Amino acid sequence: MILTHRPAPNLQTLTGDLIALLEREKRRGRDYLRLGPAGRQTLAVLTASVAAGRPGTPARMRSTAGPPRIEAGPALEQLHEKIRNCRSCPLGGGRRQAVPGEGPATADVMVVGEGPGEEEDRLGQPFVGPAGELLTRMLLAIDLPREKVFIGNVVKCRPPGNRNPEAGEIRACFPFLQEQVRLIKPRLLVALGGVAARALTGSERGISEIRGKSFSWEGRLVIPTYHPAYLLRSPEYKREAWEDLKKIRRELERLIANDL
Ligand code: SF4
Repeated sequence: MILTHRPAPNLQTLTGDLIALLEREKRRGRDYLRLGPAGRQTLAVLTASVAAGRPGTPARMRSTAGPPRIEAGPALEQLHEKIRNCRSCPLGGGRRQAVPGEGPATADVMVVGEGPGEEEDRLGQPFVGPAGELLTRMLLAIDLPREKVFIGNVVKCRPPGNRNPEAGEIRACFPFLQEQVRLIKPRLLVALGGVAARALTGSERGISEIRGKSFSWEGRLVIPTYHPAYLLRSPEYKREAWEDLKKIRRELERLIANDL
């Protein structure tokens, strides 16, 4: 009898696979874990620990210089709890629930849209529905599984009727985004659509003029591109979005190579 030896999967691999499975199911509306704050905090720690230990994790995450990034998980979850309870602007009165964002606390890339829509407001998750599916495919096209990217919005509560958030609402919510960036320390931010692009670049020019260009915000590289909901309505702009995505991939590789 021939016995073949297969290495047993370690606990970290199993935990990572389980987290990815639960996140996928949650995005499909099947939330098997109804976690309270303590449970969410534990899950955030596990997610951060898996991301920090996975093969291919950039050296920056394993570096001993500076505060260990694994600590960002609980702090990020605390911040998200604060967002869930926030009523600092009128949007807090009309929402079903706030949508702080989701993704690893150690993500290299942070994607920022303008605000939650109806489905996001119902599920408490960013970018679900057709636009979310397109975003997932766009990220995968440049070898970025959605699970490895932090996805959030400029405002965390749904503007009524899906209108654009107003200047005062953006101002009220902006410190949350700044704090997320401070904790996650992404190498690169992708601003999706005109509202996010204006908020992160300070430019008043339209998204078609500034898409694919490089900006700096909070000391980090920002590249704007079209919002996936816009691409669904105007597929003729997908070619330009693809050029932006290729640039995002190139820039990310450069930042990782230089450990920036
Ligand atoms: S949009 Fe932001 S500032 Fe306004 S209530 Fe929601 S979390 Fe608070």
